[in-house]
Amino acid sequence: MDKKEHIVVVGGGFAGLNFIKQIDKTKFDVTLIDRNNYHSFPPLFYQIASAGLDAGSISFPFRREMRRGKVKGARYNMGNVEFINVKEKIVTTQFETLKYDKLVIAAGTTNNFFNMPDLLKKVYTLKSASEALRCRNAILDRLERASLCKDATERKKLLSFVVIGGGPTGVEIAGAIGEMKRYILDREYPNIPKEDLSIILVEGTDRLLRAMTETASREVLEYLGHLMVDVKLEKTMASYEDDIVKFSDGEELYSEMVIWTAGVTGEPIEMFGTDVKRGPGNRFIVDEYNRIIGMNDVYALGDISLMMSDAYPKGHPQLAQVAIQQAKLLAKQLNKGEFKQAFKYVDKGSMATVGRNRAVADLKHIHLYGRPAWLTWMFIHLISILGMRNKITVLITWVWAYFTYSSSLRILLHSTKYPLRSRWGEKN
Ligand SMILES: Cc1cc2nc3c(=O)[nH]c(=O)nc-3n(C[C@H](O)[C@H](O)[C@H](O)COP(=O)(O)OP(=O)(O)OC[C@H]3O[C@@H](n4cnc5c(N)ncnc54)[C@H](O)[C@@H]3O)c2cc1C
Repeated sequence: MDKKEHIVVVGGGFAGLNFIKQIDKTKFDVTLIDRNNYHSFPPLFYQIASAGLDAGSISFPFRREMRRGKVKGARYNMGNVEFINVKEKIVTTQFETLKYDKLVIAAGTTNNFFNMPDLLKKVYTLKSASEALRCRNAILDRLERASLCKDATERKKLLSFVVIGGGPTGVEIAGAIGEMKRYILDREYPNIPKEDLSIILVEGTDRLLRAMTETASREVLEYLGHLMVDVKLEKTMASYEDDIVKFSDGEELYSEMVIWTAGVTGEPIEMFGTDVKRGPGNRFIVDEYNRIIGMNDVYALGDISLMMSDAYPKGHPQLAQVAIQQAKLLAKQLNKGEFKQAFKYVDKGSMATVGRNRAVADLKHIHLYGRPAWLTWMFIHLISILGMRNKITVLITWVWAYFTYSSSLRILLHSTKYPLRSRWGEKN
């Protein structure tokens, strides 16, 4: 019997996991490498950050998935892929070096701080479940400290939130903090006057949610107003030093907690044995079959790939559906051993939510807003989360929070390293 070809998949996000589900494990040996031992669901990271959901309810361990169902038969190795040598066909992580026959790069993107790399140490981000948890702990810690603070000026400083980036993530996290201000403060933090908490959402262009219709942008602006979020359009952040956000037009804002959602760039993995350069956004330039141009047996899927076509001259939007559809098609063609079907993105629409009963959805033939959009948003997200236990947990959490506004998730879990070095808010 012929030895099976070994496919190594880097990244078990929407693209990597869907590829592994569809690839024929009787024809290929498949190894998934991911730095985390779980698949997660980025569209709901903002709910982890605002204590609306528990990180575990939107994450799914790879090893459990591999015991059964469509992923059964694949292997999972934990590791952060640092180097790929396409000449020798090897992938290197901090733990091992693996040989491949075919390589699928589905590593997604990371935060882009543009020309301000130092921001990494100063701002909060939402690109992973861990980053969202860090954000949640910082928000809760600030609320607890503010409720003890007797000085109104200090309290306002503690609760000065600025969100940079008016795309779906920025809008959603600003809306979620707005809901805390509007509905939670009175109930759970009675010592904090509402006006002491400020949320400013900053966007560089002239409207929020640029990828959606102008109607959606207008509606979202109105919803954010109801939630007491102050929106600043056409403002570009130039620096953030000593709690001062400076904009390129000279305006300054005081903020002790800046949440950065303004940009992404392809995950940096060093490539050897090739002089092929990445394209804009640090994405691998692929042909219409997701084969990286200029490399043999190496494919890129999802956010890290850049497929330019007449319909999408700047590449496809970095969305879950693009990643899923590309992954399924590549697996199908590798299973057949031929590349005959060019990728064609089927756009199912986009949506964003700004809190309970407030959402916008641009679907194929219809625009929804308000409660219908919000219910549609909830339904689509529920069916997309992996695992029945997760779906049920999320549904129960949402229904409970809808009727009671209470959440058992607003807990601060400090790490218990010995010796205890620092806690949030304490100076070293
Ligand atoms: C906060 C947020 C909200 C979003 N909301 C929406 C939304 O509402 N709708 C929508 O369609 N899209 C949304 N997106 C975009 C969507 O999540 C992405 O388009 C999608 O996840 C891309 O899938 P992917 O498989 O290419 O990458 P990812 O899902 O990012 O998966 C990449 C995987 O690779 C792993 N990895 C990365 N680098 C390495 C490495 N060097 N070594 C090993 N493993 C590595 C990561 O751990 C991860 O598991 C959102 C994204 C974010 C961050």
